[in-house]
Amino acid sequence: MDTVAIVGGGLAGYTVARTLRDRGHTGRIVVIGSEHHRPYDRTPLSKGYLAGEQDHASLMFDADDDPLDAEWVLGRAAVGLDIGSRTLSLDDGTSLDADEIVIATGSTPVPLAGPCGAASVSAAHVLGTIEHADGLRGALVPGATVVVAGGGFVGLEVAATALTLGAAAVTVITSDPEPLARFGPEASRAIRLLHERRGIRFVTGGRVARVEEDAAGTPLGVRLTDDTLVPGTVVVAGIGSFPNTGWLDGSGLELSPRRAIVCDTSGRAAPGIRAAGDCAAWAGDPCAHWTLAQQQAQHIALDLLAPGHTPAHTEQPYLWSDQHGTRLQFAGRLRGDEIATLEAGSVEGGDPLLVYRDRLGAEVAVLGIGQARAITRWRKLNRLPPLVAGSPEPV
Ligand SMILES: Cc1cc2nc3c(=O)[nH]c(=O)nc-3n(C[C@H](O)[C@H](O)[C@H](O)COP(=O)(O)OP(=O)(O)OC[C@H]3O[C@@H](n4cnc5c(N)ncnc54)[C@H](O)[C@@H]3O)c2cc1C
Repeated sequence: MDTVAIVGGGLAGYTVARTLRDRGHTGRIVVIGSEHHRPYDRTPLSKGYLAGEQDHASLMFDADDDPLDAEWVLGRAAVGLDIGSRTLSLDDGTSLDADEIVIATGSTPVPLAGPCGAASVSAAHVLGTIEHADGLRGALVPGATVVVAGGGFVGLEVAATALTLGAAAVTVITSDPEPLARFGPEASRAIRLLHERRGIRFVTGGRVARVEEDAAGTPLGVRLTDDTLVPGTVVVAGIGSFPNTGWLDGSGLELSPRRAIVCDTSGRAAPGIRAAGDCAAWAGDPCAHWTLAQQQAQHIALDLLAPGHTPAHTEQPYLWSDQHGTRLQFAGRLRGDEIATLEAGSVEGGDPLLVYRDRLGAEVAVLGIGQARAITRWRKLNRLPPLVAGSPEPV
């Protein structure tokens, strides 16, 4: 293996490159990234960076005193892949041949429709890059009225941060009956209380039709499909993201129904081609969280260095979210028919530890708010069997 080409200079791409170098790979590593920045951490974009508590430099993965030895092709996107010859085409008309290609192109947030319906662009903010966060930060002036469409993690974090920046009113719209409904009523209630006690309002069961704007393009609010207007001068979309795989159409790589790259349990999509992170689905499991993206990337690097000798990772899927200075953590997988039991803390007190059991009584997942030690213990005790095809979709 001489040349490894990594497409995508985010968490997974960086981790593959860093692990290869740290474990002794002396060949060529080329990282192609469509952003102009060196790889950075996106997780503070809705938290400390948006709040102005973290600066640009603190986001960067690479330490100044230990820069990663790789060829950086930044501000350039891959636009095509020949899987037979392992040749990448770039948007400047150049091409690159590699012995191994790792695709780590992540995902892009879904935008909200503008005043003229689904195909029109709205003035709503999305949050996926440093530039998005800078734009949103500029809009979140004291006294702003903020509407967040989407009651998932990023939406709830933005709502919490907007409040700390002095927003006069913050409303979260979720199409589900409750925020984070897939974690069950106890978790939803605890999250809802966490926000409502600080003055954030929820519109549940609300389906967004479009963003209403004045003639100058300034948002007036979010129009729901029942014609209600949720007023706001700053609108943020937190309604999910889609894998950046459009450039692979026609390449012959298989994409899942939600357009993630279909891979085996070692991230192989085709001979000499692997994928990791938010653009990939290993053995049917899509990834949308930091820890799994990093684990997949480490696994690929180790497997490239010593093919077949890398043990499958056995950690449960894990995610965290910081809202109002409180850490929510979740580990495991949910199908939707589990029973949640309160094992410590309380929902009303805002610090529940919920353990989810399947119909046979086996512990399959855990959620805690302000329960870091218990979550760490649970993760240590509840390892996974190696990923197998057909395992349930994680949340
Ligand atoms: C605001 C925000 C907050 C988050 N908070 C949390 C959190 O608290 N906890 C958690 O677990 N997870 C969180 N996440 C999710 C986590 O950041 C992602 O799971 C992680 O970044 C995935 O890493 P990745 O390398 O797959 O993709 P990314 O980090 O998105 O990197 C992909 C890179 O590939 C580039 N690219 C795309 N297409 C091409 C192309 N054709 N050619 C070249 N380059 C391309 C992109 O521009 C990007 O730079 C958050 C995400 C966001 C956006």
